[in-house]
Amino acid sequence: MPAKLPHHDSDEAALDEVRAVYAELAARPVERDCIRRTECCQFALTGVMPLVTKGEVALMVKALRATGRTEPPKQAIEGACPMLQANGKCLVYEARPFGCRTHFCAAAGGPYARKEVLDLIRRLEAVDTDLEGEGPHKLDIGLKRMLRELKEGRR
Ligand code: SF4
Repeated sequence: MPAKLPHHDSDEAALDEVRAVYAELAARPVERDCIRRTECCQFALTGVMPLVTKGEVALMVKALRATGRTEPPKQAIEGACPMLQANGKCLVYEARPFGCRTHFCAAAGGPYARKEVLDLIRRLEAVDTDLEGEGPHKLDIGLKRMLRELKEGRR
């Protein structure tokens, strides 16, 4: 069954829960300092790509649409996240996924320990279930899937 897309009130509540998770993460006393070097956005360099749940992707797509786009711009940097622009900024920084907030580069203090955020990960997984997602996907795949469903009018 194709994944359900967030457009009902209950789905909006699910997205509010994702926002609440991000807010709680920001309030945690874990010292990190993302200085937007964007190294972690260059997947081909790092060999690591964030995993995203459906609620996280839905927020990214909302932010993308708020820029007037229905698709990410042509990839600016080969092997990098599709949301990384040529100017080195994330197109959806305020709506960036959990993994982008917790897998910081060494210069920012290194990644969060899983035990520091496990409760928040569980909450994102619960939202994924509510939205009939299929569990975490690599960022590029999760984004492509949702954009394809939008294009096909399945949401
Ligand atoms: S969503 Fe933004 S912060 Fe996350 S990897 Fe992509 S460009 Fe970087």
